[in-house]
Amino acid sequence: MDSFDLVVVGAGSGGVRAARMSAAMGARVAIIEERFMGGTCVNVGCVPKKLFVYASHFSESFEDSQGFGWSPVSPDFDWTRLVANKDQEIERLNGIYRRMLENTGVTIFDGRGVLTGPNTVEVNGETLQAKHILIATGSRTTEPDLPGKEWASTSDDLFYLKKLPATAVVVGGGYIAVEFAGILAGLGVKTHLVYRGPKVLKRFDADIQAALDEAIRHKGIEFHMQTNVASIQGDETNGCTSVTLTDGQTIRAQLAMFAIGRHPFVQGLGLETAGVSLSEGGSIAVNENYQTNIPSIYAVGDVIDRAQLTPVALAEGMYVAHHLFGKGGKAVDYERIPTAVFSQPNVGTVGPSEEQARQRYGEVRVYRSSFRPLKNTLSGNPEKTTMKLIVEAATEKVIAAHMVGPEAGEIIQGIAVAIRAGATKEVFDTTIGIHPTSAEEFVTMREP
Ligand code: NDP
Repeated sequence: MDSFDLVVVGAGSGGVRAARMSAAMGARVAIIEERFMGGTCVNVGCVPKKLFVYASHFSESFEDSQGFGWSPVSPDFDWTRLVANKDQEIERLNGIYRRMLENTGVTIFDGRGVLTGPNTVEVNGETLQAKHILIATGSRTTEPDLPGKEWASTSDDLFYLKKLPATAVVVGGGYIAVEFAGILAGLGVKTHLVYRGPKVLKRFDADIQAALDEAIRHKGIEFHMQTNVASIQGDETNGCTSVTLTDGQTIRAQLAMFAIGRHPFVQGLGLETAGVSLSEGGSIAVNENYQTNIPSIYAVGDVIDRAQLTPVALAEGMYVAHHLFGKGGKAVDYERIPTAVFSQPNVGTVGPSEEQARQRYGEVRVYRSSFRPLKNTLSGNPEKTTMKLIVEAATEKVIAAHMVGPEAGEIIQGIAVAIRAGATKEVFDTTIGIHPTSAEEFVTMREP
């Protein structure tokens, strides 16, 4: 029987990071993967999604270019070429992941890992003996349960669609719905967004929700708010669906895509056999060291109940590697997770919303700015950029920054470093701006 210090189940962001770091610290490590190297992020998430966002944004750039003297063009878009090029890039990344693991001495098993006890995992009929086991199996898209659900697609399917639909219905108001509605609309698909709430991105700062709501309505996306899908009727002959909403409307579309959350992937892993407890929400319950109720078994990433974000899984994976084989891990800062929604325009955010900040910190000062970026003067594009800083009155520290605008993800990453370092508003105010940029607004907002 092969014996390892660590057997990792799942080669996504968290699992690969933990495996590589542990092996680099001298541990004997095996990793088991049944689907694809790099997990959701590399294959059906962050990476291909961002490539599709780039692709879809060109249509707006062609429009914008005319104000800068370019003649109008009638570009032709080839979906099959985009998907083929994307597949090629993902295949390259799969190879890099595999080589990175092999080069650090990690043994890879392609197959399904099933726990058969606190220290044993079975894969391809072979039993691996493990001093420690790390479950990093991630999450899966949540599918709707309604009449005609067999006609519903998820973001996973969209990455491999054979043909770009002419009309699409996107259901949900979170990260994925907003990002994919933007991708489809930018590629020329008549896009309907169906959301059960009043404004998308419910958990974000209210000013950011409002700014994004306004910005994306200009993109030609048709909103159906405060309603939900009641049923779908499909037509086998032409692949078309009729999506009936709870308010009685019916939308005909070739694609009905549901982005209604992702749930921890725990089925068929042998967790019951190994005695691993789940939380109420169905995720694996862990303590501050990511250890489950079974001392030899750990879990990180989307399969636990923290934030479903790649960089968070990476940080958790790193923690476990250092905790088990190094000098102890550095605690993950869940309070100030910077994050971006790759909507068009982007949303970038770090720290609490204004509402949460008022509850948590008492008196706060809020700085807001909404302006038309320089590029949009000549382009005639009406889109505005919105920025917001929240300062704790008692300490003068900047505790949150929010933005809706081009490259908000790129900009907020730097601001997140300053906030984590404890920068006060004065530090922001005395930082020299870079002119002319939108980002300089973060160091020139003077009036609360
Ligand atoms: P989210 O949790 O972000 O949003 C789910 C949405 O679906 C919410 O608007 C929710 O409504 C709605 N919803 C839930 N259940 C139903 C239902 N039964 N019927 C109708 N609507 C429903 O999930 P996503 O699927 O968008 O994304 C999953 C996770 O993946 C995200 O939370 C994020 O952590 C991660 N992700 C991160 C990205 C990034 O970093 N850029 C990109 C994509 C995903 P309500 O608001 O009313 O609860």
